[in-house]
Amino acid sequence: MTKRIFRSICLVALTVFLASVVLIMGVLYEYFSDVEQEQLKMQTILAAQGVSHEGIAYFHDLTVKDYRISWIDSEGNVIFDSASDTSEMKNHLEREEVREALSSGYGESRRYSATLMERSFYSALKLNDGSILRLSISQNSIFTLLLGMMQPICMIFVIALVLSIALAVQVSKKIVKPLNEIDLDNPLSNEGYDELSPLLRRIDSQQKQLRGQKAELLQKENELNTITGSMNEGMILLNRKGKIISINPAARKLLDADTDCIGTDMLSLCRNLELQEILSKALRGERGENMIRLHGESYQIDADPIISENIVRGAALFFFNVTEKEKAEQLRREFTANVSHELKTPLHSISGYAELLKNDMVKENDKIPFAGKIYDEAGRMIRLVEDIISLSHLDEGANDMQRENIDLYTLAEKAIQSLEPQANTACVALELSGVPAVINGIPQLLYSVIYNLCDNAIKYNRENGKVIVNIRDENGMAVLSVEDTGIGIAHEHQERIFERFYRVDKSHSKAVGGTGLGLSIVKHAAKIHNAKVDINSYVGKGTTVVVAFPE
Ligand code: ADP
Repeated sequence: MTKRIFRSICLVALTVFLASVVLIMGVLYEYFSDVEQEQLKMQTILAAQGVSHEGIAYFHDLTVKDYRISWIDSEGNVIFDSASDTSEMKNHLEREEVREALSSGYGESRRYSATLMERSFYSALKLNDGSILRLSISQNSIFTLLLGMMQPICMIFVIALVLSIALAVQVSKKIVKPLNEIDLDNPLSNEGYDELSPLLRRIDSQQKQLRGQKAELLQKENELNTITGSMNEGMILLNRKGKIISINPAARKLLDADTDCIGTDMLSLCRNLELQEILSKALRGERGENMIRLHGESYQIDADPIISENIVRGAALFFFNVTEKEKAEQLRREFTANVSHELKTPLHSISGYAELLKNDMVKENDKIPFAGKIYDEAGRMIRLVEDIISLSHLDEGANDMQRENIDLYTLAEKAIQSLEPQANTACVALELSGVPAVINGIPQLLYSVIYNLCDNAIKYNRENGKVIVNIRDENGMAVLSVEDTGIGIAHEHQERIFERFYRVDKSHSKAVGGTGLGLSIVKHAAKIHNAKVDINSYVGKGTTVVVAFPE
């Protein structure tokens, strides 16, 4: 800035100086030339009078000093010349001033010398006898004048230059100082010159606007952080070079990263090939998704390009944990396969027995046992289908079932009553003890919990064994325990018996009419009531299942 001001002032000063010199010299030179020409004319008129009276005698002893006087006859021959020998002089008819004088009586002209260093003024007057008297005088040309004045001009130029420099330094300092001293944080408090006011006002309003925008951005960033911070899904925003702009806590945890990872390359954080593939796809503007395994869990990654004004500005990566979903899918597949298998066996039996009966291949005495077998298998299928329906109902959350306050003891009484025939057949004694315990729950589900546990306790008991059902209140919980003196369950099976269709001894279960779904229904129904199920069992001694319901 200072340099610019300085240069401008020097340039202006120089231009003004040169223009003044040229103008003054030019105007003055022309003015004095005109004066000189006028004087020469007067001299010519005076000399013409002398020549008219005295003829050639006028020139005798004539001292002309700076002037040159020539007398030319009407033919253009020089009769007298004060500067040259007339015999060597050419005809002067073609000279401009002579031609003019011959035609109009008076003529004048100005001519430069060959070197342009001198200029001659000519003035010619026609005498009465037709001859021409010409006077001329030489004058230094403007260039000679300029050369002659070079020294003072140079001096003035140097002085002007020095003054310009001093002025430029002063002015530029004066202009720049308030600019340098502007307090940009408080633009309106500055006391610069008036011309700065619009600029300062503009800076102030822009600063206010910027502060507003910054606050808005900060608020939006906080909002985004709050939202993404509470997300279970991992989210990463990347710029178009694949560098991390934002990463939420879930994604940081997943990739073992800390907050310092902002600005680093995504691929330095996770070198997974599938991730690299969909990321580069997203940065090319195409959406991509893939499955990867991280920390032993399955994640679905969605990579979406962030596009604005048709340009890919970056990408957003989302990590969804689909382990549970995959497990559920696997369970569903297994369940379908198991159901088909479980249904196929009784159906085959029924179909086989029915075929024999249809073809009359059964002896009269065997017909009733055959029909009994068909009846048993059909009963098994019905139980299986009922259990499947109950389970799928529980899978859907059993939302259509009404909750009410119900006494577990009364329910247990009912269940024992309906199981009495089975217990008698199996020679197992059923016992109920304890106190009433009212909980808020779904009666049908609570009944099926007690029924299934007692049913198992009878089925997997020994002859003359016992089943003791107890209802009690323990630490604010309504506790149901079903204890038997049966075959017991080996430790390694205890975890798995709650899985669907899992049986310790398949043939035994089938023999006693089991479906392999009873404990799954118990587990599910307990979960809906926020109850905790514990199992305590010793092979050959017996099993105790305890279900604790919050009251
Ligand atoms: P099931 O219809 O076969 O009885 P459950 O889901 O009710 O199916 O039980 C799963 C398996 O757990 C049974 O097949 C059996 O092997 C074992 N089991 C359940 N309850 C008892 C028990 N009280 N004593 C011994 N084994 C049991």
